[in-house]
Amino acid sequence: MELLSTLVDKGCRGELPTREEALAVLATSDDDLLDVVAAAGKVRRRWFGRRVKLNYLVNLKSGLCPEDCSYCSQRLGSKAEILTYTWLKPDEAAAAAEAGVAGGAKRVCLVASGRGPTDRDVERVADTMAAIKERNRDVEICACLGLLSDAQAARLREAGAHAYNHNLNTSEAMYEDICTTHEFADRVDTVRHSKDAGLSACSGLIAGLGESDEGLVDVVFALRELDVDSVPVNFLIPFEGTPLAKRWALTPQRCLRILAMVRFVCPDVEVRLAGGREIHLRSLQPLALHVVNSIFLGDYLTSEGQAGKADLDMIADAGFEVEGADTTTLPEHRNPPNATGSPEHPGDTNNTRDTADTDPVPPAARTDLVTVRRRGAGTDLPPNA
Ligand code: SF4
Repeated sequence: MELLSTLVDKGCRGELPTREEALAVLATSDDDLLDVVAAAGKVRRRWFGRRVKLNYLVNLKSGLCPEDCSYCSQRLGSKAEILTYTWLKPDEAAAAAEAGVAGGAKRVCLVASGRGPTDRDVERVADTMAAIKERNRDVEICACLGLLSDAQAARLREAGAHAYNHNLNTSEAMYEDICTTHEFADRVDTVRHSKDAGLSACSGLIAGLGESDEGLVDVVFALRELDVDSVPVNFLIPFEGTPLAKRWALTPQRCLRILAMVRFVCPDVEVRLAGGREIHLRSLQPLALHVVNSIFLGDYLTSEGQAGKADLDMIADAGFEVEGADTTTLPEHRNPPNATGSPEHPGDTNNTRDTADTDPVPPAARTDLVTVRRRGAGTDLPPNA
């Protein structure tokens, strides 16, 4: 297919495809799916070989958020029966992080619910990072604390954060449909503040919110324009008790096309398979490893992932290798911040193909696969890693 050879050529040169080419990837048929994955795999291997970076989430503060992001089980008014707890103590967070590092994680992602941290919260996280570094000096720490001021970003960097995560989640045009308590521009500002402070910017999306193909391409192009270093691709986990509980709009094939599109648009950055992979990709997860170069190990913030050992087996069985702490994730030309050092921390309508409306057979709701997290951080049970 000419489209795919063009995209491989561009991706291997680090060039941006056109919007039409990105849209065409999303419009490919299931008959072409393996060709699409193989093409994205060539670009992935050009920049990242067969390495898979493992990241481990520690939910420092769970639930009771005043914001109303409709996809989120921790939102204002959520009836999802998730764990709710206030800030973990530094030692508790460090113990959870240690389990992830022992399981092979190279990056620990410290996440807290809420609109954004107070300066006191930032100091708590600084203490937590110090406790983690005391046990594992070389681990990369990413903070994800919501909207951040430039001074808070600078403080996190100074305190030892390597990266900051703040996802754009969806296109600017659709943003007010999924959240009314903050705006797309607020999220863009936070990504910019983290970059300006010298933090490695991590920002991604959630697919399956009801967006069009145009909307997906919009958000991925926005991420490319922000020049972020890592792009987590989440697939909506439709939690009972949230407004999007009935929104099951994704098929495994659709997920793979989305991942491939992200890889072609962001060829030389870390593309991370994130929340929802188990419930939406299901038995096709190993194919996604040919496209992404990074995954979360173990559980998510409020739901359980597959067993950490199953993740490691999947990587080995598919012929990939876990990236070691001594390897730099990003290609040299991206000039990443010092991974081990101190200072680094979640449209228009042409050619619209709305997944929810136009997939010939609506995907079945797999509520049986959504398991609320009951182990690890904030509980007395050991973490999954
Ligand atoms: S995504 Fe973050 S800001 Fe939005 S409701 Fe959830 S925890 Fe709050």
